[in-house]
Order: sequence, then C-alpha cells, then structure tokens
Amino acid sequence: MARYTGSVCRLCRRENIKLFLKGDRCYSDKCAFDRRSYAPGQHGQRRRGKISDYGVQLREKQKVKRIYGLSEKQFRLFFERADRQKGITGTNLLTFLERRLDNVIYRLGFANSRTQARQYVLHKHFMVNGKKVNIPSYLIGIGDVVELREKSRAIQAIGDSLDAVVRRGVPQWLDLEKDNMRGVVKGFPAREDLTMPIQEQLIVELYSK
Ligand code: SF4
Repeated sequence: MARYTGSVCRLCRRENIKLFLKGDRCYSDKCAFDRRSYAPGQHGQRRRGKISDYGVQLREKQKVKRIYGLSEKQFRLFFERADRQKGITGTNLLTFLERRLDNVIYRLGFANSRTQARQYVLHKHFMVNGKKVNIPSYLIGIGDVVELREKSRAIQAIGDSLDAVVRRGVPQWLDLEKDNMRGVVKGFPAREDLTMPIQEQLIVELYSK
C-alpha cells in the first residue's frame, strides 16, 4: 500500500492549517507552518487562486485524511461504513476516526502524535480490556480499557508524552488514569468535542458525486 514518506510539515503547508503531525515540534517555534505559511514547492508563494467547489471539497477530504494519517483506501472504507450507519454521515465518519485505537492512545496522551501511537500499537505496547492488540485501526467501544503493558512502562518517551498532554488536554469522553497507565472510554465523542476546524459535510458532498 502506498504510504506517504515525505515531510509531513509540507502537508500542513499544503492544507494551509496546522495539522499537528509532529508532536512537540508543532508547539515550538520550529513549526514549519508558523515559519512559512505558504504552500510548498517552487510556486508556493504565489497567491492562492480561487478554487472550485470540487477543489474545496477535495482539500477538506485530504486535510482530514492527513490528520488521521490514512491512505485513500482506508479513508474511503471508513466513509462507506459511516454512510451505512444511521445518523449524519459526516458525524459518523468523524466518530469512527476518533474511535481508532491509535487515535485513542494519542488522545489519552501516551503518544505525542498519531504516527507515534500507531508505532506503539504495532509494537504491542498496549492492551485493550486485558488483551494485546496490534491493530491501529481497531475500533474501541464504550467502557473499553486501554492500558500500557507492564513491560512497556519504562519507555521514557511514553512518560514524557504523558507529562506533556496537559498542553492539549484529554477529551472529556476519555478518562486517563495516569498512575495506572490506562484510560477508560466513557462514551463516544459528540460533534462539539472535536475541535479541529473540519467541515465534514464537504467530504460527504465529494463522495456523493
Ligand atoms: Fe505541521 Fe507540526 Fe510540522 Fe508545524 S511542526 S508544520 S504543525 S507537522
């Protein structure tokens, strides 16, 4: 499966928004978007021209896909699943994305980016309800307990991330028990809990063409 391996800061500059893909660096004065908030590439400093409705929808989809670090295929599958569910498709989509295990680990503060969280999951550092899970796309449910394994508790980077999580805060739908190195899913996020500036309706329009 094709995976983007270039500079992730270029993605922020392309989408014209901070996507917070590099952990601590995103909050520092080294953030590439804060330094050069124009599109990447040779013609990046040209004025951003008027873009079509299709272009606006496409950029929104790319933005969300990049926030969660998914391929087109993975993202499309989530959309189709969201579309089959009762309720508002756009909200369903965002809820599914938030329920991914790698996202939950990032939200709880065990990792300082979703990419790092995905690595931790793949390396089997976490358990869900007492069982090892190494699937980043695993969807957590209400009441699930996500816990750092005993043998992984000495990893310095995880401790550092937990210390730094106060900066972005743990969402209210999750309960972090820092002393026990675990988090409990209290419920699914409501739309207002998702504070990134996302217009999910544009994605629904794009895929409904
Ligand atoms: Fe984006 Fe973070 Fe890079 Fe800044 S440091 S451009 S927010 S990925």
